[in-house]
Amino acid sequence: MSTAQTPVAPVAQKNAEVALKDRGNLFEIATKQIEKAMKLINMEPDIAQIIGQPKNELIVNFPVRRDNGRIEMFKGYRVQHNNILGPYKGGMRYHHEANLDEMKALASWMTYKSALHEIPFGGGKGGIKFDPRQYSKTELERITRRFTAALGTNIGPDHDIPAPDVNTNSQTMVWMMDTYMNIAGASDRNTVRGVVTGKSVSAGGSHGRAEATGQGVVHCITEWAKDTGFNLDGCHVIIQGFGNVGSYAARLLSQKGAVILGVGDVGGYIANSEGINPHKLGEHVHKSGSVAGYKGASKITREEFFALDAHIFVPAALELEVGVAEAKALKVKMMVEGANGPTYPEAEEILLEKGIAVIPDILCNSGGVIVSYYEWLQNKRAEQWEMADVLGRLERRMKQTYQNVRQYALAQKTDWRTASYAIGLERLQHVYKERGIFP
Ligand code: GLU
Repeated sequence: MSTAQTPVAPVAQKNAEVALKDRGNLFEIATKQIEKAMKLINMEPDIAQIIGQPKNELIVNFPVRRDNGRIEMFKGYRVQHNNILGPYKGGMRYHHEANLDEMKALASWMTYKSALHEIPFGGGKGGIKFDPRQYSKTELERITRRFTAALGTNIGPDHDIPAPDVNTNSQTMVWMMDTYMNIAGASDRNTVRGVVTGKSVSAGGSHGRAEATGQGVVHCITEWAKDTGFNLDGCHVIIQGFGNVGSYAARLLSQKGAVILGVGDVGGYIANSEGINPHKLGEHVHKSGSVAGYKGASKITREEFFALDAHIFVPAALELEVGVAEAKALKVKMMVEGANGPTYPEAEEILLEKGIAVIPDILCNSGGVIVSYYEWLQNKRAEQWEMADVLGRLERRMKQTYQNVRQYALAQKTDWRTASYAIGLERLQHVYKERGIFP
């Protein structure tokens, strides 16, 4: 079934995960979004053609030995969308439904994200099609190392720089770095530390990187609250996804006095009208792998989650989770896209008609790649910046871009997603005009 014409998917079924393949083609959706912004800035058709496709689409199939001695084949991806503003940059995700069109869309969003925030990076995305929950830690290490070896010199600190994404973390990045270092050879070993970002601090990562995406989301919420005179203290928040992004957003929001009313993830949805303690929930998720079964809240359905009486919704799970049904159900004042591409275009129209502020992914979930840029700079300079320094820089950049998008959207009378793309596209167009194409 193709849902490209019927974007109603993730219809509330009892905590069921709707297969990604049934959610529509993500690259087609990304193209539709970007075309609106291309029209707005009168982008030259030749440049639109170049940007409309990724430069490179790499698929590698590689064998790994399981703990039981058997060999299993894995399929890995790396899509390099564009590098006119700097090296390809973007996450590596491990997911059983990973596919090429998804990677193409996600890689293109990285290009626009970096362009919007004026980070000297291009866009890339990749990963492996498998369910990491079904594998032991030693298997995960072998899978990660063999994938890195299969990519070989297709990645590199000045060429293409992976980072964590869905179901990957600092440990994944440290394995990738170590493998790449060993392939690079003894004399280059310490100059290639920046081949990946999102590493642990001890292995050359940056302070503040782990919480950076959640932190960036919260900076956008804070700016919005300031602009609209909204009081975050005591407000109600619902969060979908409790991983790299959602768990930190929850902690930082509760520090501002927000009440976490409901949370959901792949295992199910929970709610507590008195508020959910994000630290305790974090411990539970760490142990059990999901928010399901958390003692400090009651189990609810996916349908009930979207209809909760909240002010702020942070989708921080997978793409295409907010369809028409979810948009109709949501009662919030604002939605801040911690995930990449969580919203169907048709659902966004409904949200905007309802007067719900939609803060788009490339604006608000960019804290990760911004601090990745700081990590990369620290690696190049063999420096270790202090936490306060990193967080201060991140805050200034997030707030600056937020205000740029706000002003652009007001001046052009357009939505914030289109405004965000348009700013990024103008930068890309400018450089393409200046440089031309080879030969
Ligand atoms: N995976 C994150 C994202 O989608 C971070 C990418 C990075 O740090 O390169 O923005």
